[in-house]
Amino acid sequence: MTKLSGSCLCGQLSYAGDTDIMGVVNCHCTDCQKALGAMNSTNMFVKAADITVTGDTLEFDHQADSGSTLTKINCAKCGSPTLGRNSAREGMLVIRTGTLDQKDLIVPKATVFASSKVPSAPLDDSLKIFDKMMS
Ligand SMILES: [Zn+2]
Ligand SMILES: [Zn+2]
Repeated sequence: MTKLSGSCLCGQLSYAGDTDIMGVVNCHCTDCQKALGAMNSTNMFVKAADITVTGDTLEFDHQADSGSTLTKINCAKCGSPTLGRNSAREGMLVIRTGTLDQKDLIVPKATVFASSKVPSAPLDDSLKIFDKMMS
C-alpha cells in the first residue's frame, strides 16, 4: 500500500488515500490531448474505494473509441483536470499525475496511443510502446 495525495491548481478539489498503484502510463490519445490541453498525459490507476475525494467536481462523460464511457473529473472552481473514471474498469480511479503531491511515484511502465502522438513529442524507448491501448 502506498500513501498518496494531490489537488487541483486552486486547491479546492483534493484527494488522498492509502492504495495499491495498479499502473502508470503515458497516454498520447487525442482525448487526453484535448482534455488536458497538453501533448500527452500521464495517468495513474488506483482503487477508487481507497481514495477520499474532497471538494466540488465538474464531471464530463464521453465515449471512447472502445465504446466505454470515460468520465473526466475536474475541479468545479479552477477547472483543472484532476481525476477520471472508465466504465470498462469498474472500481478504478484515474489520477491525472500532474496533480499528485508525490512526484517520485510517477513512474510510467508503458506508452499508449503512440499512433496519435504529436510528432515532436518524445518517446521513452525504455518503456513498452503500444500503438493504441494496451492489449
Ligand atoms: Zn481547483
Ligand atoms: Zn489518453
